[in-house]
Amino acid sequence: MSPQISVTFWGVRGSIASPGPSTQRYGGNTPCIEIQCDDHTVVIDAGTGIRPLGVKLAQQGKGKNLDLLFTHTHMDHLVGLPFFAPAYNPQNTIRFWAGHLLPERSLEGACRHLMSDPLFPVPPDVFQAKVSFIDFDENSTISLTPEITVKTAPLDHPGRATGYRIEYGGKSIAVVTDTAHVPDAPNNNALKLMHDADIVIYDAMFTEEEFKDRPDWGHSTWEEGIKLANMASAKQLVLFHHDPSRTDEEMDKIVSEASKRRPGTIAAREGETLTL
Ligand SMILES: [Zn+2]
Ligand SMILES: [Zn+2]
Repeated sequence: MSPQISVTFWGVRGSIASPGPSTQRYGGNTPCIEIQCDDHTVVIDAGTGIRPLGVKLAQQGKGKNLDLLFTHTHMDHLVGLPFFAPAYNPQNTIRFWAGHLLPERSLEGACRHLMSDPLFPVPPDVFQAKVSFIDFDENSTISLTPEITVKTAPLDHPGRATGYRIEYGGKSIAVVTDTAHVPDAPNNNALKLMHDADIVIYDAMFTEEEFKDRPDWGHSTWEEGIKLANMASAKQLVLFHHDPSRTDEEMDKIVSEASKRRPGTIAAREGETLTL
């Protein structure tokens, strides 16, 4: 059988969870993406969407060897970690990875900070899985298994964030969030990760109009996503990290405009799976 890679979105919303009637169709959970490389589970970020992912993995008996890659440890990407069921199963081995904290801080330190009094009642030592925290240098290439390669690069975000390109079975998925952009100066790191990718998941929190007032917030636009995806000759563009105040109707309008400009462009929706 030929290798199969799939992407499932468990949280697509940026900054803060925004459940409610106006976000029901696209979803209100904060970032969490499941990438299945056949039997190997790779998770990007531990936003609030990681809780239902953990429930599903536990039910399916999956995730015995799991890699969780953090883009960074801002709250919206970390807050779900204590509620990730596979971390409490002693039969599981989980590696947590991050590239944005060296040299002065560590991923383990950030997780301990979140899971400490008075923010949380118990420390990460309650995890019963065999867990390890690995800090790597951005720009490094990581082999998760002999078949799964992850290329990394720093993005343009306050406190830094790491972009990823996951390669498996001749297919590639680029995850480029959270990142700002400089108008008319395309981000070379983003382009490198996106080059010829089958799927590009891109930070499209703002519209071009909104970006004008917030160029230093560390987020980009769907218009820039299209520009970069075209320059990188990427196949499918998936808009991600939706603004918490964006309603389903407003999302529909963005998708309609974006897909006119670049056919096939979609916005990530909670629960949706893309298979390559
Ligand atoms: Zn974020
Ligand atoms: Zn952030």
